[in-house]
Amino acid sequence: MKTTQKQLEDMILAIGGEEALPVYKALHGKENVNEFLLAAKLKMTINQLRNTLYKFDAYNLVSSTRKKDRKKGWYIYFWTFNEGRADEVVLRLKREKLELLRKQLEREESHQFYLCPSKDIRTTLENAMEMEFICPECGQLLALEDNGRNLNRIKKDIWTLEKEIGDTSAEAEEVAA
Ligand SMILES: [Zn+2]
Repeated sequence: MKTTQKQLEDMILAIGGEEALPVYKALHGKENVNEFLLAAKLKMTINQLRNTLYKFDAYNLVSSTRKKDRKKGWYIYFWTFNEGRADEVVLRLKREKLELLRKQLEREESHQFYLCPSKDIRTTLENAMEMEFICPECGQLLALEDNGRNLNRIKKDIWTLEKEIGDTSAEAEEVAA
């Protein structure tokens, strides 16, 4: 499976939040972009911009070179987005999410949950017993939740992710062969 633009942008958002997307788009397809010009273009302060770039850097998604500005005496960094790394990071985030969903599924399957009719709280049997099955917010009786729907949703998400990750590694093996 080839990483789509949408998956790539989702990954950028997951790593750097909303403000990271314009930074990625401005770097995309270019090399050694002057950070001061980039900040001016995106109407960000240099610190805001660097914050985002450091988040990318934590995943090795960017590389930089620096030059000293002789007149001002400070360093200017020139940034390049590592397009080749992006696929790996997309895959890595998917694996992390899969791991999380599997833990969630395990928790859902091994506990019964009790729910306030007004949905103030959702809690395990153990906690519900401590509360004597009374919602601390509204005083209504907590009811045993049928979490079948939840389980199905998590299982479906796991299945989708496993399929995506499986396809990706199969393709990587093809390339390697
Ligand atoms: Zn309640």
